[in-house]
Amino acid sequence: MQEGFSDRLLDWYDKNKRTLPWRDRQDPYYTWISEIMLQQTRVETVKPYFLRFISELPDVDHLAACPEEKLLKLWEGLGYYSRARNLKKAAVQMQERHASAIPQEREELLKLSGIGEYTAGAILSIAFQKPVPAVDGNVLRVWARLTGYEDDITLPQAKTLAQKMAGEWISPSRPGDFNQALMELGALVCLPKDQVRCADCPVQKDCFAYLENRAAFLPVRKTRKARKTENRTVFVIRDGDFCAIRKRPGRGLLAGLYELPNEPGHYSQEETQEYVRRLQLEPLRITPLPEARHIFTHIEWRLRGYLVRVAARENAKQEGLIFVNGVSEEDTFAIPSAFSAFAGYMKEEIR
Ligand code: SF4
Repeated sequence: MQEGFSDRLLDWYDKNKRTLPWRDRQDPYYTWISEIMLQQTRVETVKPYFLRFISELPDVDHLAACPEEKLLKLWEGLGYYSRARNLKKAAVQMQERHASAIPQEREELLKLSGIGEYTAGAILSIAFQKPVPAVDGNVLRVWARLTGYEDDITLPQAKTLAQKMAGEWISPSRPGDFNQALMELGALVCLPKDQVRCADCPVQKDCFAYLENRAAFLPVRKTRKARKTENRTVFVIRDGDFCAIRKRPGRGLLAGLYELPNEPGHYSQEETQEYVRRLQLEPLRITPLPEARHIFTHIEWRLRGYLVRVAARENAKQEGLIFVNGVSEEDTFAIPSAFSAFAGYMKEEIR
């Protein structure tokens, strides 16, 4: 890397960094919570969640004591709920091992639930000013272009090498800003594929991809396996203001969360009628709802939905099926965003 690289990058960062709520103060708790929320989630989405989370659970002790239902409610819509559960687990571990403080040693951070190499690097550099690299997806892309890395970026050796080199480039006087500057460059300028904005980049002259006109072709990724698709039918079963939900199993996809009853396959209206009768409920009216889809990392759900009006919900016979008031109990049950296309019908006024 050419001399002055770090200064060029930091100078650009000082002038262009976004105002973000977790940058308001240098607090390891802020850094930790925001970094976990930002995994697989866009900055604009995270902002209101972060503010609400911090105001409800302002420190490690509040987080450790938070009941799971409330925690999942605070997380509702962010997806990847294991992140929320790991936050709480790690908070309890911090209470037990570190007197409710966030540790300042890499090895100790890595022993906590949900904290990997990247999050440890972000906490150490941003909150504690330690010269430790933090390589996320954005930084990996910037690194591959700067260095002209032509191998498959998805293989672990790419990350190991990126981490080593970023550790050599890091500014010893401003390590946290340096890491954030690389992330910010990836988020605002060194964008994926042909969205890349080299004309606005402060480190053009350091960049292999720019000098060799390879920016749109780097990084190299092996072709991903096609995502599996699965048809499902979602049933919004209503008796007045009450709507049927059930809890998912403790393991697997969306483990332990509440959901609207749903079954594999695309049901017809007649099949829906039979399904509801099998629950010992009498369908009064069945209305098809607009179809929807939800994409997980490895699977895509193609969702068909029905609003089913029933009477005498107390007769319902299915283990785990419970009727909740869609309006007054809305804040009690976290329904994952996979069902968001249908969740509105849980409380919509029906005639
Ligand atoms: Fe990325 Fe272009 Fe800057 Fe290189 S010059 S780091 S490819 S934006």
